Amino acid sequence: MVRKDWDTYFMDIAHMVSTRSRCPRRHVGSVLVQGKKLLGTAYNGAPMGVPDCSEDGCMISEEVEVVNVDGVETMVKKQRCIRTIHAEQNLLLFTDRADREGSVVYVTDEPCWTCANMLANSGIIEIVYYRPYPKDTRKVTAMMKQKGIIFRQLDHYNPPPDTTVIS
Ligand SMILES: [Zn+2]
Ligand SMILES: [Zn+2]
Repeated sequence: MVRKDWDTYFMDIAHMVSTRSRCPRRHVGSVLVQGKKLLGTAYNGAPMGVPDCSEDGCMISEEVEVVNVDGVETMVKKQRCIRTIHAEQNLLLFTDRADREGSVVYVTDEPCWTCANMLANSGIIEIVYYRPYPKDTRKVTAMMKQKGIIFRQLDHYNPPPDTTVIS
């Protein structure tokens, strides 16, 4: 058995956390790490005490999105579930500002623009993600660069078995 490196260790935990999600469309998990110490975990979900996607179904919103297909910008309609608070936002709701200063966020999926914007203002200095989310990559990457936040995808990584949903 090869000992897991820290990146793998914390990304595995983020995936375990994501299995708590009740949205069938997307399971996202995130963890807050300060100097190799786990300070918080969160997944995407409806607010506490409110019916979640498994009870009331997803809350689908249709959005028009610009995608780049072979260098050509094309408008496509995409459906998203907007019932849940994103994992990164829940992580910010359940951790303290003082704990976040200088810390790292591991998240199973590349943050969307709104989450990235909030993370950029949260005190964290690094974001590590696994699955890409091409929709917002360009503006998120540019903003992280402006903020001086390390933003990197974990490659050569395989999530633990049974922790991912395909939708
Ligand atoms: Zn849902
Ligand atoms: Zn988000």
